[in-house]
Amino acid sequence: MTVSTHNVQQKVGSATHVDVLIVGAGISGIGSAYHLKQQCPEKSYAILEMKDSFGGTWETHKYPGVRSDSDLYTFGYRFKPWVGAPIASAQEILKYMGEVIEENGIGHYIHYGHRIMRCSWSSDDNLWSVEATRLGDGTSVIFTCNFLWMCQGYYDHENPYIPDWPDRDKYRGLFVHAQSWDPAIDYSNKRVLVIGSGATAATVIPAFAETAKHVTMLQRSPTYFFCSENKNELADRLREIGIDEPTIHRVVRAQIMYDQDVLTKRCQAEPDVVFEELKDLIREYAGEDFEFEPHFTPRYRVWQQRLAFCPDGDVFKAAAQGKLTVVTDTLDSFTERGVRTGSGEEIEADIIVAATGFRLSVMGGIPFDVDGESLDWHDTVNYRGMMFTGVPNLVWVFGYFRASWTLRVDMLGDFVCGLLNHMDGVDARRVEVALRDEDRDMEILPWIEEGNFNPGYLMRGLDQLPRRGDKPQWCHNQDYWTERNEIPSTDFNGSEFVYKGGR
Ligand SMILES: Cc1cc2nc3c(=O)[nH]c(=O)nc-3n(C[C@H](O)[C@H](O)[C@H](O)COP(=O)(O)OP(=O)(O)OC[C@H]3O[C@@H](n4cnc5c(N)ncnc54)[C@H](O)[C@@H]3O)c2cc1C
Repeated sequence: MTVSTHNVQQKVGSATHVDVLIVGAGISGIGSAYHLKQQCPEKSYAILEMKDSFGGTWETHKYPGVRSDSDLYTFGYRFKPWVGAPIASAQEILKYMGEVIEENGIGHYIHYGHRIMRCSWSSDDNLWSVEATRLGDGTSVIFTCNFLWMCQGYYDHENPYIPDWPDRDKYRGLFVHAQSWDPAIDYSNKRVLVIGSGATAATVIPAFAETAKHVTMLQRSPTYFFCSENKNELADRLREIGIDEPTIHRVVRAQIMYDQDVLTKRCQAEPDVVFEELKDLIREYAGEDFEFEPHFTPRYRVWQQRLAFCPDGDVFKAAAQGKLTVVTDTLDSFTERGVRTGSGEEIEADIIVAATGFRLSVMGGIPFDVDGESLDWHDTVNYRGMMFTGVPNLVWVFGYFRASWTLRVDMLGDFVCGLLNHMDGVDARRVEVALRDEDRDMEILPWIEEGNFNPGYLMRGLDQLPRRGDKPQWCHNQDYWTERNEIPSTDFNGSEFVYKGGR
C-alpha cells in the first residue's frame, strides 16, 4: 500500500488514507485537531464522528439547565480565550467550540455520521485500518491511518446507566434518564422526582424548581457542594482596566489552577476544616440555620469524588424556598405513582428523572484487533492513561476529573505532536510502550486506586479498563499538578518507548 504524508487525505484502493485519524468531535477531538495542525502541519488527518454535529458531551445532554461544572477559563483551551462568566451553558460551550472549528479551518476534516465499527492494526503495513458505517446510507467505509488519536470520551452516549430497579414498568408517569432528556418535555406545574445527587442532579434541580410544582431529590448518599457566585473577580477587574483577552485568559487560568491546587492539598490535609468552609458558603445562600444533617453530610472524604459546583447557591436557594425536598434513602421499588424507599415511604411524582450517571465505554465500545488477535484492554498496562502495552500507534485522551478535562487535551496535544515529530526524526513507523526491565516485577493493579478517586461508573467498569502499575509512568494519576511538569519533559528516547520500522 503506497501512501504519502501530505496534508490531504488520499484514496488508497478503496480506503481513504490519512496520517492521523482522530476519533470523536468532542472537546478532545477538536482540541487535538488544532494541536496537530499547529505542530505537525505536514500531517494529513481526518476526524470521524458518529453524530451529525460536533460537541460530544455538550451535544448529547439536553436536560434543563445543562452547563459545565468547571470554569471555562480552564475548561476552555489554552489557545482560545474565554470571555464569558466562568460557568457556561452547553450552548455557550458549543458556540465556543464552533468558533475554534471555524477559525482554524477544522470543519472540512470532520466526517460526521460515521460510526466506527472496528479498528485493526497490521504490523506488516504499520497501519490501522478503521471500518466505519456511514449512518446516512448504511455504507461501510474504510479509512487507514498511521496513528489513531482516540478522543471518543469515556461513556456510552446512547445508553445511560439505569440501575435495575424492581417494578419500573409499574410506574404510570414519565420516566426518563437525564442523558436522554427531550427538551420538549413539559415539567411546569408537575411534581418532579430526581434520583441521584451528583453534578447532574445539582444542575437539573434548580432548573426544574423554577416552574415545577415541587422537586424531590432522592439520594442514596449525600454529596459535597461548592457554592460560589458565577463570576471571576480577577477577570472582571483585568477587563475593566483594559487588559487584552489573551492575557486575561492566561492569568485567570493560572489563578484558578493555583487556587485548585491549594484546595486539593487542603482537602487531603484538613478535610474537616474544608467541609466547615463549604458549609459556610452554603449558609450564604440558604441562611444561617440551614440544617446539614442528614442530607448534606457525605460519608466519603471531600474530593474522593467530584465536588458538585453550585453557581450562585442555586440548589440551596431552592431548598431554602421550600421548592426542594431531599430524601436520603435507598430506592426499594417503583410503584404506580412513584417510588417506594427502603424505609417504606412512597414518593409520588409525575416525572421521574434518573440522574444516575454513565455507563462506562472503553474506546467507544469499538472492537480492536492487533495483527488478527482481538484486543482485551484489560490485558494491557497503561502508560500515563494514554498509551497501552501491546497497542502500537495509538493514544487515548482521558482528561481530568478534579481539574478541567481540557487541561489534559492541550497537554496530550503537545505530547502526541512531540511523539509524531520524534518518530519522523528517527525514521520510525511504529511506536509502542513496553514495561522496562525495572518494571518487570511491578505490581499490576486496576486502572484506579479506589481510595483516591472512585466514581461509580469507573468502579463498575474496572474489568474493562486497562490496568496500571505502581509507578508514575504506568498510571493515570488524575493529578494535573504533577503531570504538568512530568509530561512535557517526557524523553521520547526513554526505554519505555519502543520504535520500529524505517520508511
Ligand atoms: C453532563 C456532563 C457535564 C460535564 N461537565 C464537565 C465539566 O464541567 N468539566 C470537566 O472537566 N468535565 C466535565 N464533564 C466530563 C466531560 O465528559 C469531559 O469534560 C469532556 O466533555 C469529554 O470530552 P471528549 O471530547 O473527550 O468526549 P465526549 O464529549 O464524550 O465526545 C466523544 C465524541 O466521540 C464520538 N464517538 C464515540 N464513539 C464513537 C464511534 N464509535 N464512532 C464515531 N464517533 C464516536 C461521540 O459521538 C462524541 O461526539 C462532563 C460530563 C458530562 C456528561
